[in-house]
Amino acid sequence: MNRSINASRRGFVFAGAAGASLTILPALVPAAFGKAPLAGSQAISVHRMKLGSFEITAMLDGYIDIPPAVLQADQELVKTLLLAGGWPAAPMRLPVNTFLVNTGDKLVLLDAGGAKLLGPTAGRLPQCLAAAGVTAEQIDEVYITHCHGDHLHGTVTPEGGRMFPNAILRIAKADLDYWGSAAEEAKAPENQRGRWMPAKRAIAAYGANLKAFNLGEELTPGIKSVDAAGHTPGHSCYMVQSGAARLLAIGDTMHVAPVQFPRPEITVAFDWDQAKARATRKSIFDTVAADGTPIAAVHLPFPGIGRLRKSGDGFAFDPAPWQLF
Ligand SMILES: [Zn+2]
Repeated sequence: MNRSINASRRGFVFAGAAGASLTILPALVPAAFGKAPLAGSQAISVHRMKLGSFEITAMLDGYIDIPPAVLQADQELVKTLLLAGGWPAAPMRLPVNTFLVNTGDKLVLLDAGGAKLLGPTAGRLPQCLAAAGVTAEQIDEVYITHCHGDHLHGTVTPEGGRMFPNAILRIAKADLDYWGSAAEEAKAPENQRGRWMPAKRAIAAYGANLKAFNLGEELTPGIKSVDAAGHTPGHSCYMVQSGAARLLAIGDTMHVAPVQFPRPEITVAFDWDQAKARATRKSIFDTVAADGTPIAAVHLPFPGIGRLRKSGDGFAFDPAPWQLF
């Protein structure tokens, strides 16, 4: 051990001595056999974990950059929290994760990403599915946490057809009633009306294959809706349970890790009901931190799975360890 440390130290010293030791260095530094062109693109991100007898596959649809001004708090405080979390002051880069649950009987996709609605940095779900060895035709059911574009728009092809041609699409009735309503859309300021588009397209594409549910319903054995209204009128989390193993897919219960973990009371501008969104987040965070249920979050760094624990007045997130099965 000492000898190898000495050898590498000597190599370092000699390397710093600019050519004085060229006869020694080749013996210490192996020739490079890995010379290759740079890839110039990101690899497709797919990550698996076991949950009881189920298999969960996290897939990274991409990311969106949003300005800190969407956080409903003093902007100096926001900046301090972002910097303390190791983030730049702006913009805030939010990953967009989706989760595929294989129950052994069914393939259920939890949220579908944003397709190209969000620009070129998202819309990679189809490549993720291919990398996971799953075809769009195999997906049995798609459960949407809420009707915002970064969760729902990926269910529809650019031509307006079903991205998952054999799937039943499930959306909470309260969300569908709101985002599927022309009257609600007409009430919104004109520059906000595009936010109704993803629901309109999904309703048109899925027709009878779109089935509303009531918050809190079990949708298939092992996956149950959890009422998390606030971010939207029918925002739903999903409790995935196999035997004693549980995972709560939290959708948009939170968006910005370095801000909303330490200060869960801070909301975002696009929360439909600020007070309700705040109360829901605090309640869900309290519950999972107390009972140890891991969460799977759409906007946490990929793969977005881990546990919360109480930390000061807020919470801290511990990413789940990787599994090699
Ligand atoms: Zn979102």
